[in-house]
Amino acid sequence: VLLQVHGHSSGSDAQSRASLRGDLQDFLGGEAPLHQLEDLTKVNPVTLETVLRCLQVRYMADIFYTNAGCTLVALNPFKPIPELYTPELMQEYHVAPQPQTLKPHIFTVGEQTYRNVKSLIEPVNQSIVVSGESGAGKTWTSRCLMKFYAVVAASPTSWESHRISERIEQRILNSNPVMEAFGNACTLRNNNSSRFGKFIQLQLNRAQQMTGAAVQTYLLEKTRVTCQASSERNFHIFYQICKGATKDERLQWHLPEDATFSWLPNSQRTLEEDCFEVTREAMLHLGIDTPTQNNIFKVLAGLLHLGNIQFATSEDEAQPCQLMNDAKFSVRTSAWLLQLPEDMLVKTLQIRTIRAGRQQQVFQKPCSQAECDTRRDCLAKVVYAQLFDWLVSVINSSIYVDCDSWTTFIGLLDVYGFESFPDNSLEQLCINYANEKLQQHFVSQYLKAQQEEYAVEGLEWSFVKYQDNQTCLDLIEGSPISICSLINEECRLNRPSSAAQLQTRIESALAGRPCLGPNKLSREPSFVVVHFAGPVRYHTAGLVEKNKDPVPPELTGLLQQSQDPLLMMLFPDNPKEKTQEEPSGQSRAPALTVMSKFKASLEQLLQVLHSTTPHYIRCIKPNSQGQPQTFLQEEVLNQLEACGLVETIHISAAGFPIRVSHQSFVERYELLRRLRPHTSSGLHGLYPSKGPFEQPLCAKEATLPAVLRDILYTLPASIGTVATP
Ligand code: ATP
Ligand code: MG
Repeated sequence: VLLQVHGHSSGSDAQSRASLRGDLQDFLGGEAPLHQLEDLTKVNPVTLETVLRCLQVRYMADIFYTNAGCTLVALNPFKPIPELYTPELMQEYHVAPQPQTLKPHIFTVGEQTYRNVKSLIEPVNQSIVVSGESGAGKTWTSRCLMKFYAVVAASPTSWESHRISERIEQRILNSNPVMEAFGNACTLRNNNSSRFGKFIQLQLNRAQQMTGAAVQTYLLEKTRVTCQASSERNFHIFYQICKGATKDERLQWHLPEDATFSWLPNSQRTLEEDCFEVTREAMLHLGIDTPTQNNIFKVLAGLLHLGNIQFATSEDEAQPCQLMNDAKFSVRTSAWLLQLPEDMLVKTLQIRTIRAGRQQQVFQKPCSQAECDTRRDCLAKVVYAQLFDWLVSVINSSIYVDCDSWTTFIGLLDVYGFESFPDNSLEQLCINYANEKLQQHFVSQYLKAQQEEYAVEGLEWSFVKYQDNQTCLDLIEGSPISICSLINEECRLNRPSSAAQLQTRIESALAGRPCLGPNKLSREPSFVVVHFAGPVRYHTAGLVEKNKDPVPPELTGLLQQSQDPLLMMLFPDNPKEKTQEEPSGQSRAPALTVMSKFKASLEQLLQVLHSTTPHYIRCIKPNSQGQPQTFLQEEVLNQLEACGLVETIHISAAGFPIRVSHQSFVERYELLRRLRPHTSSGLHGLYPSKGPFEQPLCAKEATLPAVLRDILYTLPASIGTVATP
């Protein structure tokens, strides 16, 4: 019996690697059953082309998961495969002595994290970062993992505790349809695209049962409430109400079947996600009773009618814009549904209040037609964003039990993937910034730390180059000068500046930075950032305003006048707040900008991630049409390049997939020392065989005490393999 303690060969040339992995097919042989290669570290040689080919062959053979060293690659099948996610299969991975030896699956990652939380290997808390571009399958994967934990981490046999546990697990699962109804929408890339980022912390007690959870969301794309790109839709919930309301509800909410709403494009198409009943049922499970639900839906109907309010241009600048004829009905209905005074609603949209001068004198100025529209949109966005945040807090209070009941957690991160459109603005800047941060986390955790550690330990190692994105992050968020600081500065100074001026300021202040791309061929003011996933052009028009995200105080004041119970709760009439009105001229300190808030929440997230052992699932979209059995090489190649998968494979293949501190390792495997006293240093067998400890650890199986044999067989597969000569 040979125990090869190091997982992957450390042989430097391809030939010795291939011969060491005798069971492996040489990729170049052409005849190899590539689909059987379950770990991309075993493709030989590891290049973009070979990795691509292997994934393609597997995909066409209906094999969607492949290991890539420390990462799991998940290809989107774009077709239902129920047999891949059954509770029986979950159990199979759960009870397997070595789940890593089963077929690659998200359940392997799920089970590994679940086992790690009780291991002695620090840190015990785990996180799974699911990444990939829009439509690649991040949300699907996260949902499946939550179902997996609901099965394997369910409470024990006693009926009472089982009932309680079922309730909590069910609630946690029920948070998905609710958050997706309010936070997902049909886009060009994905019919069920998440328009917010989500980190869910699944909490486990000492007995490793799920006792609760906590959700944190990031940057909801609230502009979608009032503005949707052509062929895209608003959030699912609006369509669900319009399609699923009963006759009575239609009357109450003023939603006749033939109603048309300008904020509800493409409603003729019915999607799987349009099921109102599922959302209502899930809300009930989360403790949102029917009257509260009806209140929520009434407010949403009010927003739809608000969107139909149109103003005519005013001939005389001193006069407010008048309502278009058929807008009167919309005003009345909207005011009624939102329980707002009708005349105050119109006036607030038509006229703005300005405070200026030392005395803070109040002026009233009629708004232009465009300004009226902006105020109307702002009102809707503020209500929706507040409602979404409130829902998240309700969900949290429903799924979070108490801090004494849990000791460890598994975090699941499902954030929007890297985005690059013809027109990119603040939203894409924030999203790509988040991806840049996560990539850096990955790089620093695996690629950098691993290689630096080998250098410190004096191992023979040829450094594998990888793309360190620190320079890009310096450009975006660094101090003292970065894109973020320059845009924030514009907000702080509150000076009128054109899009062209902002472009010039950014380009001159950051000239020479390697990740500020050349800005040619652009007719509109913009700047280019060379992200790890590719260059993106951001337009500067509207950037500062979006970053300020101003809510005129008159709008908040209006909402505080509402008699609707839900709006009264969302916008409490707090006299303290009322006195802090804005904008009060140049001297007023501006509120936190969107970028500053986002940066702070990202930093918090990364702190949590750093305190855990991370696992990575890279979702890949085989084609952008959502077709099954279609693998478009060019598209997949771009995604592989964008996430630096080949570098990851190189390092994982050449390096050691498991790094355990000496202390933890000794605690866990100390018994092994008795195996062959003279190879007590065999504990260092984790190091390559060319190191100072050349002897592999050997013993005859028959001579092993049973307890030792158990330990050997439960060693993670990637550390030790027991082979019979
Ligand atoms: P976004 O960033 O836009 O939110 P996403 O990465 O979260 O995208 P998903 O919504 O998870 O993408 O997946 C898109 C669609 O792909 C799903 O609605 C589903 O139809 C399909 N899909 C994804 N993964 C699977 C799978 N494992 N099996 C079957 N279908 C899948
Ligand atoms: Mg999603």
